[in-house]
Amino acid sequence: MSCTYLQCIEESCGRRQDPAADLHSCAFCGGLLDVKYDFGPVEPLNLRQTWRQRRLSDDPIDRSGVWRFRELVPFVDPGARIITLSEGFTPLVGTPRAGEWAGPVNLTVKHQGANLTGSFKDIGMTACITRAVARGARWVACASTGNTSSSMAAYAARAGIKALLFVPLNQISAPKLAQALDFGALVVEVGNNFDAAFRLLLEVAPELGLYLVNSINPFRIEGQKTIVPEMLEQRGWRSPDYIAVPGGNLGNSSAIGKGLHELKDLGLIEKIPRLVIVQAAGASPFWETLRTGANELLAIEDPHTEASAIRIGHPANWKKAKRALEWAGGFCESVTDEEISKAKEVLAHDGVACEPASATTLAGVRKLVQAGKIEKGADIVCVLTGHQLKDTEYILRHRAGEKARGQRIQVEPELNSLRRELQRALGGR
Ligand SMILES: *Cc1c(COP(=O)(O)O)cnc(C)c1O
Ligand SMILES: [Zn+2]
Repeated sequence: MSCTYLQCIEESCGRRQDPAADLHSCAFCGGLLDVKYDFGPVEPLNLRQTWRQRRLSDDPIDRSGVWRFRELVPFVDPGARIITLSEGFTPLVGTPRAGEWAGPVNLTVKHQGANLTGSFKDIGMTACITRAVARGARWVACASTGNTSSSMAAYAARAGIKALLFVPLNQISAPKLAQALDFGALVVEVGNNFDAAFRLLLEVAPELGLYLVNSINPFRIEGQKTIVPEMLEQRGWRSPDYIAVPGGNLGNSSAIGKGLHELKDLGLIEKIPRLVIVQAAGASPFWETLRTGANELLAIEDPHTEASAIRIGHPANWKKAKRALEWAGGFCESVTDEEISKAKEVLAHDGVACEPASATTLAGVRKLVQAGKIEKGADIVCVLTGHQLKDTEYILRHRAGEKARGQRIQVEPELNSLRRELQRALGGR
């Protein structure tokens, strides 16, 4: 096994730390930590071939889109128990109509909603829960806007350990809450936004001996970075010009940045695509911080947006996301709820749907093309982070009233009136 260690990301510190201390922040300066490895010499062509061959294997470890790339996440001991639900292996789908609307650009989407609990959180959770089990954890905990909860609850159940969730009261979508309850998690509804719930959890976690799986846990980032080799392999190892992701707590953008950086270092890719991070107006602290050139995060006390998965005012991973933008180049953008809703509607024209937070990517790309920052015709992958059914209230709310007029018809169960209504409706289309 390669040697694994933790390292503080702060340039003024950078100290290495023992992974066995289960730290979530630097013991010296409180900075964020990276999981690092001494990879040793790597033969890129052999690795690509090994990964490809594993696609033919029926071993559950090879059937995982994370552990298939285990050479990139070598923090588990040989023979260790891997907690997997066949995560990853998500589709990369061309979306020509959305591409036309946004640019025109050459657009594909990487749909992470195809993971078993319906969001990209699964590819981080397999890594983090595997680590928790190896460390002997009995309770895992997180604060969440919903999808981390569903995912943690599923993987904890799979591992046979207990799950404790902190969620803001009445702020997470019903399907996400339902999933967590379905998997038997203990749910604490506290505070009126994610940041408040997270702060409280951080206070009580040490005294209760809880193993935290929020994205400040650097092992989650390790799982999440494997979207990069999976996507690149699906593209025949040709890098796109841009990868676009929504930005909430900024774990995903951090993970993609780390994945790209490592693959470049290991000689697995030639070109690092530029990164586009898109936040929702009303919850755009990172965008605001970069725009103004502030040195400290300009946190938002009362974040608001209909895209509940990214309704976050104090993104914990902002420094890693900033580093990702430095490594990859690219932009942070902010889009309104109206722009998100429109983008979601446009994606549906290609037969692709997602939860509102995911649609920020397409809205952001369009805005950046219009501003002349992204060139027309660019080759772009939008990461759709969550499944369409993760927020059905949103859909029903937006498909009600004026907009849905003509889309829903209520008719007496009587043939003549049915015919009359249908003739009118079909004729008008
Ligand atoms: C968690 C989540 C995000 C935000 O990801 P971060 O890593 O917190 O930036 C975006 N979309 C969906 C659907 C999510 O579940
Ligand atoms: Zn430090």
